Amino acid sequence: MESYEKLLEEAYAKVKVVRAGGERFEMPKLESQIVGKNTIVSNLAQVAGILRRDINQLARFLQKELSLPSKIENNRLVIIGKVSSGKLNEKLALYVEEFVKCAVCKKVDTELVSEKGIKFKHCLACGAKSPVKYHF
Ligand SMILES: [Zn+2]
Repeated sequence: MESYEKLLEEAYAKVKVVRAGGERFEMPKLESQIVGKNTIVSNLAQVAGILRRDINQLARFLQKELSLPSKIENNRLVIIGKVSSGKLNEKLALYVEEFVKCAVCKKVDTELVSEKGIKFKHCLACGAKSPVKYHF
């Protein structure tokens, strides 16, 4: 027999799931393939488009995080070195956290703005402006 607290907990968990579903953001996934000694990310442009971020900035971020040189070729990212898809998407999640997600309402409808040399995420959903802490 389940305790009342446990049932309550489950009920809350269900409510949370439903609420999250209402403002669902489907995290894009980087698709990659290891070719020889390189890793080719085939959908970098699409992912940057979904996140409304500059493909070059996203590429530079990945390059720094992975500590591997890379270049953009035909909207694909060619990383010099072997990187697993799991690791790439881990870095993408970090990018979204740092550069896309609103620090206040956690939505991803934001734009990057620069004021006096400081980068801010300006949230189009709640209007909050939060500084980007990550620098590269
Ligand atoms: Zn917001």
